[in-house]
Amino acid sequence: MTKKRILSGMRPTGFLHLGSLLGALRNWVDLQNDGHYDCYYFVADWHALTSEYANTGQIKEYSLNMFIDWLSVGLDPVKSTLFIQSSIKEHAELYVILSMITPLPWLERNPTYKEMKDELTEKDLSTFGFLGYPVLQAADIIMYKAYGVPVGVDQLPHVELTREIARRFNFLYREIFPTPEPLLTDVPKLLGIDGRKMSKSYDNAIYICDRDDTLRAKIGAMFTDPQRMRRKDPGRPELCNVFNYHQIYSSSDETQEIFVECKRAGIGCTDCKRQLAARISEVMIPIHDRQDYYRNHLDEVRLIIEDGNARAIEIALKTMEEVRDAVKI
Ligand code: SF4
Repeated sequence: MTKKRILSGMRPTGFLHLGSLLGALRNWVDLQNDGHYDCYYFVADWHALTSEYANTGQIKEYSLNMFIDWLSVGLDPVKSTLFIQSSIKEHAELYVILSMITPLPWLERNPTYKEMKDELTEKDLSTFGFLGYPVLQAADIIMYKAYGVPVGVDQLPHVELTREIARRFNFLYREIFPTPEPLLTDVPKLLGIDGRKMSKSYDNAIYICDRDDTLRAKIGAMFTDPQRMRRKDPGRPELCNVFNYHQIYSSSDETQEIFVECKRAGIGCTDCKRQLAARISEVMIPIHDRQDYYRNHLDEVRLIIEDGNARAIEIALKTMEEVRDAVKI
């Protein structure tokens, strides 16, 4: 059976948080283990430069950590090809070619361009690289002639743009690239401890590497039902972020009990949070054990990266031969 190739990447701009684990990584692992897909996952370190160009000191460290977290949550370097974008220079070459054929209005109407600019207000994102990052994404994806890209709803416009760029290349030169399909994933939404979108830039994230006191302190600081001011006030778990976490991490019996007890003020928020911290700690034990292992075996991690890079470059070289031939350059 020929497996369908899929590809996805992550920007190494910080430690991975529980939102990334539930929103993307769990799905990546499922797709890898599904048996129908040939999975390519990459650390998008050039994409990290789009926002971190003035502060690049930690990108390498974050890239290595990202690899360790990927391996710890179950990505398997035998089943999946795991690589680092900047090790495959062909991505940059294809990006240059695609940038020549991408009309500027396609980039200017990209909804996430404005969103990210609003979100990362402390950074000056009025750069050519930031406007053009969807072109680099298109190069990343079509380089491997991916059949599909696992994405959340908010990334759909990027995949659509990639499809348009691929079609334009095929029209102008030669039919080389398939148009990738978005593989929409319905994932539970995990908000940050302050109730906003979980993000490093909001300083509200619970990281995959957070343990013990750090984990307990973050959960202890979580916003709850704002109307529950005193212990004796009945709560509204359906509006409480802590309860949302319980629905993901606690058993259904426990979740049901918290729902009932919260509504009749039978449980206080401190105890409810303590219970949640214990559940998350339990769930994370095997992941933390593997993190410890890989952190103590960095040579092994580096060999895995080298192997993944070598597998990726083999395909990239073939694609670029076709591209150069088609573009006659
Ligand atoms: S008891 Fe739990 S679910 Fe209810 S408001 Fe407090 S933290 Fe939220």
